Amino acid sequence: MTLQAPPSTLAAASGAMLDPFGRQVSYLRVSVTDRCDFRCVYCMAENMTFLPRADLLTLEELDRLCSAFVAKGVRRLRLTGGEPLVRKNIMWLFRALSRHIESGALEEITVTTNASQLAKYAGELAACGVRRINVSLDTRDPDKFRKVTRWGDLGRVMDGIRTAQAAGLKIKINMVALKGFNEGEIEDMLRWCHGEGMDMTLIETMPLGDVEGDRTDQYLPLSAVRARLMDNLTLEDIPYRTGGPARYVQVRETGGRLGLITPLTHNFCESCNRVRITCTGTLYMCLGQNDAADLRAPLRASPSDELLNGAIDEAIGRKPKGHDFVIGRGAKKPAVARHMSLTGG
Ligand code: SAM
Ligand code: SF4
Repeated sequence: MTLQAPPSTLAAASGAMLDPFGRQVSYLRVSVTDRCDFRCVYCMAENMTFLPRADLLTLEELDRLCSAFVAKGVRRLRLTGGEPLVRKNIMWLFRALSRHIESGALEEITVTTNASQLAKYAGELAACGVRRINVSLDTRDPDKFRKVTRWGDLGRVMDGIRTAQAAGLKIKINMVALKGFNEGEIEDMLRWCHGEGMDMTLIETMPLGDVEGDRTDQYLPLSAVRARLMDNLTLEDIPYRTGGPARYVQVRETGGRLGLITPLTHNFCESCNRVRITCTGTLYMCLGQNDAADLRAPLRASPSDELLNGAIDEAIGRKPKGHDFVIGRGAKKPAVARHMSLTGG
């Protein structure tokens, strides 16, 4: 009889990143900029102070950093922000990273975008091997859209969505459920998405960064949303996963899928396979914790990846078990002081 090594031992032997709880890190989110052309009310304050440009990793450094993670077993890469498509010359990075798709090292490169620049870039993204994108859209009412994004133009976003569809990109719409703002539009958004052949994911607001105002006013638990949707729709739990934290239901009437991201009502940490890096090269092992590792210093200290790989291994070795998000009447301060736009959604 041959004795088989447990999967975790095999992963470690192949140089893959295993955290102390045996979870293999195979998904990397990279925030390529903290800047954005919108100011969504739950994400940013109107007057944001952005990082000095000199602190940012160059596109070449971001490529090197991502490639080091790919060599360590990352199979899925998502570029996000801030708004990734407002970073100057960002298509250079997509083109550079597409070599890992061609070699088969990466399964996919995806992007999360507000779609303001999508009409301009959709064709090029498709040419770089991007197949799926997430577009954030909280309302289809132009006035409410302007209100929630403060600066956004719904017409441009819709143009971007149409251009991406024509370029063959598969789109998932991300909608943040906001109490008293868009709760009455969720069913309509769902029917529209599914009618257009797009998946949709609902997200609960997470307490990240000061945004002016009380988060308990915005927080809408998805358990309540789900119950309300079930007045008119049949939702069936399905095991479908995309490598992210969303749980999916199949909507019988529309034939489409709805994802639910519920960090506050449902703890998704046990299956976490991801880490995040910011545009300054800080590695966050958990979206909901403050512990981080600086990868910029080892990256810049030497042209070889030895120091960098050591710093990555050391950091993965202290990936925490889970987050500590709480939104409640007593919790006036955000659980994590940095904004989502820094760590990336
Ligand atoms: N600018 C791009 C966009 O809006 O798609 C990418 C970055 S944005 C930070 C990524 C996602 O995070 C968006 O879907 C946004 O709605 C979501 N998000 C931002 N702040 C959030 C918060 N405090 N709670 C929950 N979701 C948030
Ligand atoms: Fe910008 Fe995205 Fe944050 Fe809105 S959610 S302010 S689009 S980074």
